[in-house]
Amino acid sequence: KDLSILIDSWEPPSYVNPPAVKKIYGADDVRAAIVNHQLVNYYQPKVDVANGKVMGVETLVRWRHPQDGLVFPDQFIGVAEDNGLINDLTREVISDAFSQTKIWLDAGLSLRVAVNLSMENLDSLEFTDYVTTAAATAGIIPDDIVLEVTESRLIKSLTTPMEVLTRLRLKRFHLSIDDFGTGHSSLMQLLDLPFNELKVDQGFVHGAASNEKLCSIYNASLSLAQQLGMKSVAEGVEDQADWDFIRSSGCDLAQGYYIAKPMPADEIHDWIIKWEA
Ligand code: C2E
Ligand code: CA
Ligand code: CA
Ligand code: CA
Repeated sequence: KDLSILIDSWEPPSYVNPPAVKKIYGADDVRAAIVNHQLVNYYQPKVDVANGKVMGVETLVRWRHPQDGLVFPDQFIGVAEDNGLINDLTREVISDAFSQTKIWLDAGLSLRVAVNLSMENLDSLEFTDYVTTAAATAGIIPDDIVLEVTESRLIKSLTTPMEVLTRLRLKRFHLSIDDFGTGHSSLMQLLDLPFNELKVDQGFVHGAASNEKLCSIYNASLSLAQQLGMKSVAEGVEDQADWDFIRSSGCDLAQGYYIAKPMPADEIHDWIIKWEA
């Protein structure tokens, strides 16, 4: 009996060769997403650890893909950064986030809205003017906004980024160091800058209660924040154990699935009212 026919047509069950979990998109796809306004901002609450009050929200971009559904930023932010698209992407995110901020403030909520910036955004001095003008156009002030900065890869020079960040701070935007503990060593140079907030990466928060190594990195980050006069934020608070742990640690703000998942803008108001009731 010739088995080759059988073998040729044999398909392994999906668990033998699971489909790639994440599709990474091409530059043209991402460009089209920006141009066709398929990006939407989700927002995740940041709460005061001491009293539970909602102090702000973080803007997290998603892509409403016409075929693939809701696509997460790790599938397209890197592509945008590598292909000169991150400035256009960031401008879309900022313009939506700032108009949304205005809507929330007018509705009587007192929130500070955070947006994520790539280091590539800070490569040009014009960025300061862009953000400043965008705030004025939306009818908000820099004090309403937090700019979260991550260093996801090594960059050639920090000279321009440091100047841009300094100028943004002088305009009174709040500055936050994101993913602290995971970045490259040059991020340490940024500690010379007037950052207002340090976000301990979720990798050092979730599970730290029962892991000595995580716990010491977490505590070291917190004490650094305190010494430098920055607010500390614990992200990735996923369960009761995380929450109890960060509460006893003296951390200022918390963010994570245990509190709330990122949600569309129109769900934020109701969520806050319920949470604070
Ligand atoms: P990030 O700034 O560190 O944002 C936190 C990420 O952790 C978000 O993933 C959020 O949904 C997720 N998260 C929140 N709470 C929990 C939790 O309790 N457990 C776990 N496991 N995860 C939690 P998301 O939305 O997929 O974003 C991933 C990253 O993409 C962000 O990390 C940020 O670096 C980047 N990103 C998102 N939006 C933008 C943007 O508009 N511009 C730029 N440049 N980067 C963005
Ligand atoms: Ca962030
Ligand atoms: Ca982060
Ligand atoms: Ca991150």
